[in-house]
Amino acid sequence: MSDPIMFSDLALSEPVMRAIQKVGYEQPSPIQAAAIPVLLAGGDILGMAQTGTGKTAAFALPLLSRIDTKQAEPQILVLAPTRELAIQVAEAFQKYASEIPGFHVLPIYGGQDMTSQLRSLKRGAHVVVGTPGRVMDHLRRGSLNLNNLKALVLDEADEMLRMGFIDDVEWILEHTPKTRQTALFSATMPKEIRHVCNNYLNNATEIKIASTQSTDANIEQVYWMVSGTNKLDALTRILEVEPFDGMIIFVRTKTATVELAEKLEARGYSASALNGDMNQQLRERAIERLKTGKLDIVIATDVAARGIDVERVSHVVNYDIPYDSEAYVHRIGRTGRAGRSGKAILFVAPREKRLLYTIEKATKKPITLMELPSGATVTKHRIDQFTQQITDTLAAQSDLSFFNDLLAEYSHKNDVSPEQIASALAYLLQRERPLQVKFTDVKPERERSSRDDRGGRDRDDRGGRDGGRDRGSREDRPRRERNDENMDRYRIEVGRNHEARPGDIVGAIANEAGIESRFIGHIKLHDEFSTVDLPTGISKDALAKLKKVRVRNRPLEISLDTGPRGGDDFSRKPKRDFGPRDGAPREGGRDKPRFGERDGKKTSFRPKKSD
Ligand code: AMP
Repeated sequence: MSDPIMFSDLALSEPVMRAIQKVGYEQPSPIQAAAIPVLLAGGDILGMAQTGTGKTAAFALPLLSRIDTKQAEPQILVLAPTRELAIQVAEAFQKYASEIPGFHVLPIYGGQDMTSQLRSLKRGAHVVVGTPGRVMDHLRRGSLNLNNLKALVLDEADEMLRMGFIDDVEWILEHTPKTRQTALFSATMPKEIRHVCNNYLNNATEIKIASTQSTDANIEQVYWMVSGTNKLDALTRILEVEPFDGMIIFVRTKTATVELAEKLEARGYSASALNGDMNQQLRERAIERLKTGKLDIVIATDVAARGIDVERVSHVVNYDIPYDSEAYVHRIGRTGRAGRSGKAILFVAPREKRLLYTIEKATKKPITLMELPSGATVTKHRIDQFTQQITDTLAAQSDLSFFNDLLAEYSHKNDVSPEQIASALAYLLQRERPLQVKFTDVKPERERSSRDDRGGRDRDDRGGRDGGRDRGSREDRPRRERNDENMDRYRIEVGRNHEARPGDIVGAIANEAGIESRFIGHIKLHDEFSTVDLPTGISKDALAKLKKVRVRNRPLEISLDTGPRGGDDFSRKPKRDFGPRDGAPREGGRDKPRFGERDGKKTSFRPKKSD
């Protein structure tokens, strides 16, 4: 592999460099390495990148490097499809600007109290991150002044298109200074986005991070969809039952290597961090200890683990998903060395699933869904270890007569059987690490879905089937195979005669009621009203809010659809359409009880002395 580009090669400003140091990023991700120099030089960018590739920092770091905090009016505007993303991006700016004194970023989105938004805008912000509808609102009111705007970022442009915001986006583009710098990021490139690029980007540098990589056949690849339990609990559960020899766990930041190593050590594993902050000697020592078996787990960043060749590494865990397929291939290539077989486990958060598909596609190898070990499996494992210890102790200790006498006397005196005594002792031994384990997992919908489902989503995401539709895309969308029990049909009092379009409706509902667009189902426009399918169980509060939301200047007056009414132009209640578009997992609680907090090392059951 050629020498990697480091942050110090990129001419970012001092305060931004300090912030990077603080958050512990070791190396720019590929999209960052490619985009930062262009944006620093004032050029436009068309970045084809998905969530998880580090695209936010790819535009935030260079734009922040050029910010002038003395100028109070907004210098950077980021348009994002949803309020969740707007908040996330604003938080990222805050994080990367932590060393810039007096810096202000302001997220503005629908559903937020207008008065406080107006007040914040008045106070001034260097960066504004907003959803298109709300930004337009403020521009019209004159409460957002973009005369001094230096840069405009369109984040997840294809998602904005899918949500019907593309006209709004173009309107905003028209209302910003022509001299502005523009960066557009999109996971897919439907023709409408291409059109925006051609019309509004100036000699843009195209950055596409995709490559085909091959992975070794002797490496079994699985993924776990992060849900229902946190990553650390999932990892400890896996560590407990996976028969591993040596393991490398990959995380994204130097700080995370240290934190995770400490947590695993506290749980009884012999683990150590391996990162670029450690000097060469320390790094070599850690690898040597891994080689000789003095250390079982190394928690590493990509840079630090480059080229590690340790035969006993039987497992690679991608605790944080890599930025791209190339990094993935390098990571998992640390196992399956010298013709041995290896296993690669990948943790994928729901919002990173596109990256999973990209990796799978690029490596041309299936990565199969794994279930976390169940309570019964962990229990069985612990019992096996426990009974093995009894067998080993009986075999190794030739003279147990002292204990025999002690217990015989106890049995006689107290009139209890040897079995009862043994049970009490066994109970005492396992108290801090109970043999019987029970988890209360929340099974996410996504785990129940089939690979076909993934294929279908895949096509959507790439703009082949659904992606790239225009505002009318939701209307009369072909019915899908999804079960429709999860959706209720609502009636809203805006229709064709009011010039409402599905995109307006999706945008209003998504931003004002906080329902992600992917959960918004079929929309049917009628002359005087429309119907829209929404997930069941929407709160009364959200509905009350939605009633007042305006589309084409008319309140939605949303109500549960009860079928035809006088004068309505529809006479049937069509079958409900499809459920949540990609089966996002439900919120899950932590596992109870916590286990493994005071584990012995993986192969031996060692009750811990009090610490
Ligand atoms: P994004 O693709 O912008 O959603 O970023 C995905 C995640 O990667 C975020 O949690 C970032 O904090 C993290 N991240 C971005 N750049 C880097 C980097 N250079 N090193 C480590 N983590 C990063």
